[in-house]
Amino acid sequence: MELRIGNGYDVHALEEGLPMWLGGVNIPSAVGFVAHSDGDVAIHALCDAILGALALGDIGHLFPDTSPEWKGIDSKILLAKVVALIAGRGWRVGNADITIALQVPKLAPHILSMRETLARVMGVPVDAVSVKATTTERLGFVGRGEGCEVWASVTVIKP
Ligand code: MG
Repeated sequence: MELRIGNGYDVHALEEGLPMWLGGVNIPSAVGFVAHSDGDVAIHALCDAILGALALGDIGHLFPDTSPEWKGIDSKILLAKVVALIAGRGWRVGNADITIALQVPKLAPHILSMRETLARVMGVPVDAVSVKATTTERLGFVGRGEGCEVWASVTVIKP
């Protein structure tokens, strides 16, 4: 068996009146993400981690934000495409660990739903997907409510 590790990072700005998609889940919120896609910053970091594990570039390269094809797209579709891409090379996701830094809203009520959604899209058990949320104690751009920052780590396995 071969094992690789990848990490990903993404940031999106927040604006009033936009939908908030995070970890594949629609989160009730007065603010949402400014983006070409649905702005799911957690899925974007996760995709970059998976791609990074196999040195396949990043999602900006795979799904350019200049292309009308990806305008407003559900990021779960991008994640499914990334998983299919590595499957085509004989790899699958082992586990994923995601940390979301966001000041408001509180994400605790949505963590399980995000884990279940991401696990389903990646075709892995729910206990292979960790989603953790933190505020930044009102410090920095996250703390001022201007944006959301996400880090993702994954293992990928070739049986
Ligand atoms: Mg992004």
